Amino acid sequence: MTEHTHVTTPETLEEDTVLAPTLRPNRLAEFIGQAKVREALSISIEAAKGRHEALDHLLFHGPPGLGKTTLASLLAREMGVNIKTTSGPVLEKPADLVGILTNQREGDILFIDEIHRLRPVIEEFLYPAMEDWQVDIRLSDGPKAQTMTMKIEKFTLVGATTRFGLLTAPMRARFGIVQRLNFYPPDELATIVRRSAEILGVEITEDGAVELARRSRGTPRVANRLLRRVRDYAEVKADGRITTAVAGDALTMLDVDEYGLDEMDARVLKTLIEKFEGGPVGLNSLAVAMGEDATTLEEVYEPFLIMEGFLMRTAQGRVATPRAFRRFGYSIPDGKKGDQGSLFVEGS
Ligand code: ADP
Repeated sequence: MTEHTHVTTPETLEEDTVLAPTLRPNRLAEFIGQAKVREALSISIEAAKGRHEALDHLLFHGPPGLGKTTLASLLAREMGVNIKTTSGPVLEKPADLVGILTNQREGDILFIDEIHRLRPVIEEFLYPAMEDWQVDIRLSDGPKAQTMTMKIEKFTLVGATTRFGLLTAPMRARFGIVQRLNFYPPDELATIVRRSAEILGVEITEDGAVELARRSRGTPRVANRLLRRVRDYAEVKADGRITTAVAGDALTMLDVDEYGLDEMDARVLKTLIEKFEGGPVGLNSLAVAMGEDATTLEEVYEPFLIMEGFLMRTAQGRVATPRAFRRFGYSIPDGKKGDQGSLFVEGS
């Protein structure tokens, strides 16, 4: 991976992990945007506190980098409880969870990221824990295995997933609150950029923040990442202040285009257009042609391209829209204008 690649794609990089604690909002009131989610959460918090009860189990879903982990830790702070964090692929056997669950105090939060990737044995172990506040511990292996049932405190499971559809039905049914996070509109992202700039001690103009926000894929993690890159540029190539012009030049240098599409987004669309005449083509064929992982393509790149009207998922496969053809200067093939033209909303 070169330094510039993947600069706007919302996968976590090491530098994000290092800076996350500083840029992460500490209170729900500091969390910008997602008004509906915030409203629903503050009602649940108030109600649970009033009843001196644990929060209902809660699930956040939506594309990466939109604030699911941040919300989980905010919830813990607002409720005044402890939080333990783990993730689906990390948990191998029920024993990995026993210690956490039996040590939790009432109301504590267990946060499981990528919860759609839990192994079935772990899921089955979690059901009675979530529902009846008890865990079954196996004392030995084999056909005559002995198990011991242990009571645990009423805790709150907070799950996060980029793939709501991959969650098993019984798991889904056990969450009392399910909230979807959406991409942020530019004005909200600009507010996030200004807040982060202040924390980092970077001077940024009103328009500079808007420019950065506009090209951040609707994603706070990307906005924060671009802010740091643009700050470097501003310090080296200008007087340190991020103006629209400085932001524009820096982003162009980073291969982030007018729409916030980066090199990888461009590759998705160009492959679709150049190798498959704009589709429809199945996800796996597209992934193979690009030498990319299908899951990454689907979870990380596609949601934004779909929202911005560059790509469509149809029953026959992925299709590049006329907007995508125009973006890269291709004329729309006649065939597409005909039978598939009806699929498109012009000007979308
Ligand atoms: P997810 O868990 O959905 O992948 P995170 O919670 O890790 O996303 O958020 C990514 C980064 O974006 C965090 O470091 C956080 O600082 C920032 N962030 C996310 N949402 C907001 C928000 N609403 N306001 C301010 N910063 C945010």
